[in-house]
Amino acid sequence: MSNFFNTKIEFLKGVGPMRAELLQKELNIHTYGDLIQHYPFRYLDRTQFYKVSELDESMPYVQVRGRIRGKELIGEGRKQRLAATLVDENGDQLELVWFKGVKWMQKTLKNHTDYIVFGKPTSFNGRFNMAHPELEELAEEKQTTSFLQPVYHTTEKLKAHRIDSKVISKMMEHLLKVALPQVQESLSPELIDHYRLIDKRSAYANIHFPETSDKYNKAKFRLKFEELFYIQLRLFRQKVVRKADLKGQIFNQVPTLTEFYKNHLTFDLTNAQKRVVKEIYADLNAGKQMNRLLQGDVGSGKTIVAFITMLIAADNGAQSVLMAPTEILADQHYVGLKKFADSLGINLGKLTGSTKAKDRRLLHEQLRSGDMKMIVGTHALLEDVVQFQNLGLCIVDEQHRFGVEQRSKLWRKNPRIIPHVLVMTATPIPRTLAMTLYGDLDVSVIDELPAGRKEIVTVHRFDSHRLRVFQFIRDQIQLGRQVYIVYPLIEESEQMENYKDLMDGYESVKRAFPEYKVSMVHGKMKPQDKDYEMQQFVKHETHIMVATTVIEVGVNVPNASVMVIESAERFGLSQLHQLRGRVGRGAEQSYCILMTGYKLSKDSKTRLETMVRTNNGFEIADIDLKLRGPGDLMGTQQSGVLDLLIADLSKDAPILQEARAAAQKVLNEDPQLEQPQHQNIRRHIQSLSANSVNWSRIS
Ligand code: ADP
Ligand code: MG
Repeated sequence: MSNFFNTKIEFLKGVGPMRAELLQKELNIHTYGDLIQHYPFRYLDRTQFYKVSELDESMPYVQVRGRIRGKELIGEGRKQRLAATLVDENGDQLELVWFKGVKWMQKTLKNHTDYIVFGKPTSFNGRFNMAHPELEELAEEKQTTSFLQPVYHTTEKLKAHRIDSKVISKMMEHLLKVALPQVQESLSPELIDHYRLIDKRSAYANIHFPETSDKYNKAKFRLKFEELFYIQLRLFRQKVVRKADLKGQIFNQVPTLTEFYKNHLTFDLTNAQKRVVKEIYADLNAGKQMNRLLQGDVGSGKTIVAFITMLIAADNGAQSVLMAPTEILADQHYVGLKKFADSLGINLGKLTGSTKAKDRRLLHEQLRSGDMKMIVGTHALLEDVVQFQNLGLCIVDEQHRFGVEQRSKLWRKNPRIIPHVLVMTATPIPRTLAMTLYGDLDVSVIDELPAGRKEIVTVHRFDSHRLRVFQFIRDQIQLGRQVYIVYPLIEESEQMENYKDLMDGYESVKRAFPEYKVSMVHGKMKPQDKDYEMQQFVKHETHIMVATTVIEVGVNVPNASVMVIESAERFGLSQLHQLRGRVGRGAEQSYCILMTGYKLSKDSKTRLETMVRTNNGFEIADIDLKLRGPGDLMGTQQSGVLDLLIADLSKDAPILQEARAAAQKVLNEDPQLEQPQHQNIRRHIQSLSANSVNWSRIS
């Protein structure tokens, strides 16, 4: 954006220093550029009205037109409210209520005047009412030329200072008048032509004050496209820079891997596994450092892919580490891989917090000398004393448990050349999110389960059927199976009272199954105790494992065939899916039982129905994204990246695909953006990086 758009907002007609300060504080609007990108979050459509007689409580938000006939203040002090009656053209009445800003509403709401109200209808004693509706005086309708009238996001504080949507809309009119002539095109003529985009000036004009519905749709598409295009462009450029900078060891010898395929691998790789191995092998031969994210649903067979990658490293004289988030997982990897390594004559070790000092010294020595080619472990691997002769590959399992800094400690263990990196995660991330968050990583996906797996049968049961569920558990244990029972814990916080559900559950499970042994793990336990309890279950010393979500990640007990999730409505969808993935790992039919009370919100119902309907982690991740929005899904720390101005990752996947392809094409043709047709893009990038406020939003 040119300098004009960096003009401070206080200089805009109708703003001034006081309002400017409020706009800055409340909406982060500092400049003309910020305001013009404060897009309406919805529009008043003058053609869509409901009559009061058509209202129904299941309607989300509706627009009703009518005349105010009477208003009165009810009650005193803080409990005071304002009630007004709106009468529609049929003479039916709708009650309007305000609990906040009562005095101001009382003053501004005009009796005997026509209004459009917008809000959620609820019914009480057979009468409909609407709390805190948005209001629009009807007389003003004629003034606007646009067929849709913008509604802008404001805050309570702004409203208290009389800056409501209408006032912002007025400011926007002033702004557009002076700003539109200054708008410079920020996409190349080719892109505009190829994607049939409207020019930027019309896009701004029509997103705020749509002239026709067609122009509105085109404006929306253009601005979404542009927003996503620049994010993708930036990620691609980062990737190009990184790849050019970081050399990687070349691993092109595979004698042991060939031997492994021929004589030791007892099953056929799935096609997805084969494809991923190919992708990894290509990386390892490119002379650049590999930085790859491997996504695969629970049970899709990521471990064997990790081992194959480690074999390739070993075949080329490099050492590799496989790091897991918990001791139990490290143990499982070790036990699983040790037999392969032994039969191939490869020295594979394990290093965790509980490795004895004597063994530790030996391991350290073997790693330093290069005698040990592969090591599996936990955080203990990160300690400074752990040094390698030639660390060539780092694999991190269940990525979300590790911070970036922790990982980079591993990378630094080879001072000569940074090791190749493979990050594995069982939390499927919707493609749109992966492309936006991990655009600088290459992503591989195992989207296929090994043949012959039995689908986990998932059912939803109400608490009142607990006795029958318990009987089912008993039957399964009689058949020799084991059972998980998971209780929700909102936060692994310090307060023991949060464990009440779990403790009560533990007691009642012990009472209900006196004939069986019950283990329990939760996040407040000492790691040793947790491991002990877990091992008891792994060794089949106990029959039932009562737990919080600490068992979510990676644990493999093939004999466990039933997962009971208590208060399932309190879990997120992805979390439910992760938990379910703890069963279904053996040859037997497995079950997941979701227990809830009768009272369920609409979203809870959707989550439960989705779980019952599908086992597909990617489908589940997509639905979760739609339910929760990207910020929530990824946790607050990354949500800043996803704070998009107009595009919506849960809905705009097709636009994202196009924007991504476009960004890729532009950079392929002209990596430095030197050609004349890319000068718009180049100039826009420069103005973005000069304009720190906007830039920070997408960096
Ligand atoms: P995850 O991707 O959840 O880490 P694992 O790597 O633990 O999954 O694999 C789950 C199970 O599937 C393991 O017992 C593994 O040996 C087995 N497995 C992996 N790949 C295949 C395959 N292609 N065919 C049959 N079984 C496989
Ligand atoms: Mg795994």
